[in-house]
Amino acid sequence: MTDYGTLRDPNAEYTMRDLSAKTMGVRAKRGGGRDVEITDVQTTMVDGNFPWTLVRVYTDAGIVGTGEAYWGAGVPELIERMTPFLVGENPLDIDRLYEHLVQKMSGEGSVEGVTVTAIAGIEVALHDLAGKILEVPAYQLLGGKYRDEVRVYCDCHTEEEADPEACADEAERVVEELGYDALKFDLDVPSGFEKDRANRHLRPGEIRHKTEIVERVTERVKDRADVAFDCHWTFSGGSAKRLADAIEAYDVWWLEDPVPPENLEVQEEVTRSTTTPITAGENRYRVTELRRLIENQAVDIVAPDMPKVGGMRETRKIADVANQYYVPVAMHNVSSPVATVASAHVGTAIPNSLAVEFHSYELDWWEDLVEETVIEDGYVTAPEEPGLGVTLDLDVVAEKMVDGEELFDEA
Ligand SMILES: [Mg+2]
Repeated sequence: MTDYGTLRDPNAEYTMRDLSAKTMGVRAKRGGGRDVEITDVQTTMVDGNFPWTLVRVYTDAGIVGTGEAYWGAGVPELIERMTPFLVGENPLDIDRLYEHLVQKMSGEGSVEGVTVTAIAGIEVALHDLAGKILEVPAYQLLGGKYRDEVRVYCDCHTEEEADPEACADEAERVVEELGYDALKFDLDVPSGFEKDRANRHLRPGEIRHKTEIVERVTERVKDRADVAFDCHWTFSGGSAKRLADAIEAYDVWWLEDPVPPENLEVQEEVTRSTTTPITAGENRYRVTELRRLIENQAVDIVAPDMPKVGGMRETRKIADVANQYYVPVAMHNVSSPVATVASAHVGTAIPNSLAVEFHSYELDWWEDLVEETVIEDGYVTAPEEPGLGVTLDLDVVAEKMVDGEELFDEA
């Protein structure tokens, strides 16, 4: 018999809506091997091209779930802070535990920001864990399959990022040598015409230079690849409209984050002004914020970052809202293979999946972090093994850990 009275609950008397098993009267005894309790949560940071934050949820059944939170200062500390709210709970109650953490962490700011990211890392691990307990792949927990393979787009870099011909050469290399048919390049690169980048205004020479990058890259790859361009929230609304108008002739896959993220009306105005598809969403949180972008038709394509926006179910919820507006989902992703595969499980299960990003092609050991092959010929296939279907190579994790980190405990 579970003694819920032993659950540590430091904020209990201040919490308006406590969704723990203790207060909800949720029974652990369910039969069929589903009577499982969480015993611990641990994190380890790996020094990838970002400090990937891996999360493990341990149980009394000896089954461990592995997830990943988007990188960020304070995320491991927030996960440690949440551990007492999970210990003793049944990991199969993903939705209730998620809302429980949102409630318990309201003081730390669980509406948006790194607290949501920390909860997302746990939520991804819970999907791995639940899939392993129920012996089904994680996409099955999200509603099943729309497709076998999820398209991956490759974020491209060149040291000569401001040279249109160098960008075209890199596009050619990534298509022909790495096998991608979907690419993204940065467009917020120096042109030599800048006077004052703080005022967000684009001078005519800057527009011409950016248009030349778009022209050279798209005309080099032609129908061999779709190409998106990212502006990282750099320009004024007026400049963004001029840029989007100037590149309309090249029919790009999308133009990403041309304006800063805070003002929804400006975002909407830019999107409505052009036939160039406009994408945004990677620095917004939960379905609440993404809903506003979608319902106002401020994006043509929405770009949530799964382990940042709130996790796998949260991204499924966002995709469902987007689908009501016939808006495709292109998942932003800078994660290790763990969250990349988790994003692929979401992409497998939602109708409107367009692609998942791969942001680490310069890191030759990226795929060594897990035992499985992750990306093949520009696609990632959600594994048929239970849970996420990937196994961390703990030797590689140990070798690549951020200085001062400790390796996870054995299961
Ligand atoms: Mg971006």
